[in-house]
Amino acid sequence: MTTTSKVQCTKCAKNTGIATCDGCLAKFCSRCFIVHRQDLSKELDNVVYKHDILKQELEMPNKSNSHHLLKQIDEWKKVSIDKINQLADECRTDIVRLLDKNQDQLTDSFRKISNRIRKGRDDEDYDERDLSKWMTELKQLKDELIKPSNFRIEEDKQRSPWIQKIRVCEDFHEQAKVENESTSGGAGIQKQNHTSVALAGSKSFLPKQEKTMTKNESKKG
Ligand SMILES: [Zn+2]
Ligand SMILES: [Zn+2]
Repeated sequence: MTTTSKVQCTKCAKNTGIATCDGCLAKFCSRCFIVHRQDLSKELDNVVYKHDILKQELEMPNKSNSHHLLKQIDEWKKVSIDKINQLADECRTDIVRLLDKNQDQLTDSFRKISNRIRKGRDDEDYDERDLSKWMTELKQLKDELIKPSNFRIEEDKQRSPWIQKIRVCEDFHEQAKVENESTSGGAGIQKQNHTSVALAGSKSFLPKQEKTMTKNESKKG
């Protein structure tokens, strides 16, 4: 670049641009270049701020039930238990109603057998066949009381499960991708370098600025 073809500073559009920023490729005058570096320094402070927050979060011990995935499991558990409780209540109500109805019918049948037995005894009118028949009828009534034959609990073998099973899936491909991005590639390395510089202190930018400007000026002359 010759001294006759002067390029304006892209920031103030007034002074001559003497230094080019490799990052944004803009040309700056001496004053604006310092301001530009200061602006970048502020942006880096923001990166460091986010970095420090993430560091704190990483160093914090895993609080039980604080992660949203754990909350997701808790939510699934709650919804599933609510479903079970609701269905259990409904079925319980149905069974109580059917048991009451069954007991009424059995009581009615029992009364009839009871009358026949009493009449047989009172009239002395019975033999082995009657005794056997009454015994069988009593046993049937007792069985019916314990294990009703006209209603039961059945498992619903529907195709889509009423409560969806959940499982934890680990995606090894995605994990590898994240690791690669943070350890290789130009952008990743630059970010890491910037962070380490910032951790050493943002003042370390000043000598770097002067060095860059000196280099550009000597190039120009
Ligand atoms: Zn300028
Ligand atoms: Zn720049």
